[in-house]
Amino acid sequence: MENHQLFITELDAAMQAHLEWTRRVLRCALLRISPGNDIMKPEAHHLCRFGHWLTENRTQFDALDAQKSIALEVAHKSMHDAIRSICSKVLENSPCEESDLSAFETNQTLLISYLSEFKTLLVQSDSQLDPLTGLPLRHRPEQNFDLLKQRTRRQGSFPVVMIVDIDRFKMINDQHGHSAGDAVLKELAECLKKTLRGEDQIYRYGGEEFIVLGELSSPDDAAVAGQRILDAIRTLSVTLPGDKTIRPTVTVGIALLKEGESCKHAIHRADMALYEGKDAGRDRFVVGSDMHVSDAFPI
Ligand code: GH3
Ligand code: MG
Ligand code: MG
Repeated sequence: MENHQLFITELDAAMQAHLEWTRRVLRCALLRISPGNDIMKPEAHHLCRFGHWLTENRTQFDALDAQKSIALEVAHKSMHDAIRSICSKVLENSPCEESDLSAFETNQTLLISYLSEFKTLLVQSDSQLDPLTGLPLRHRPEQNFDLLKQRTRRQGSFPVVMIVDIDRFKMINDQHGHSAGDAVLKELAECLKKTLRGEDQIYRYGGEEFIVLGELSSPDDAAVAGQRILDAIRTLSVTLPGDKTIRPTVTVGIALLKEGESCKHAIHRADMALYEGKDAGRDRFVVGSDMHVSDAFPI
């Protein structure tokens, strides 16, 4: 949450800084002074403060809206290209091209509007976080699913969907009270966050279910990923007031994505694998096969 506040502050600073460009171009034109060496370089869009910050935070932009993130980068570069062209002509005492000025105006306007759209997306995504665990809520996997598929295609890795469901959670609530259940959910979510790799995305999917979108270097690693989750949860011991402890277990349903498969379908297959694990006695993982879903299910 604190990170999000920083992100919003940087977005505001970027908007302010890029409005300043009009002033700099005007000074260059009227006073015939260079707007600064860095601005005249072909890689100026990487040299400005916003360019630096955009490169460093690209994954956060991509996660909010991958298409818009590309459009933002293009508008930023085009604006810098137009500025360079205008200022070079001014400094050479050549007449400016009207097309350069139009490109500057259009791209500056675009840049400012993309930045404010990202700010809105970020504020919305904040309000879509589960207040108990701090995890994104269930409608988010669909939004990031296409991004995962693109990334794994690029990297030659294998996308995977995992559902992690706490075993006999109703009994934990019944025996120890709802607030004890909440404490288990919170600590278990923390444990999952620590266990999973940075690029894995984790969501609170239902009451006591979590969804993980991840990538594997080989399909065989599905079992390794499942085992890693079980091992981590088996070390978890939640201490309640009065020094009582609860040692929760989970069952994990895993589905390796098939070519052209929808998010909904993959989650459905992971769910079928989860139920197989529950039927087989819980505290285990099951890697689902393609056989689990009838062909009638829409892909
Ligand atoms: P299984 O091993 O088959 O998954 O059994 P289960 O008891 O975990 O599953 P079931 O679906 O029967 O019960 C889930 C319980 O989770 C019921 C619901 O009251 C509880 N629950 C859902 N959300 C929350 C929450 O935010 N806090 C607490 N404390 N309990 C919750
Ligand atoms: Mg459940
Ligand atoms: Mg359960």
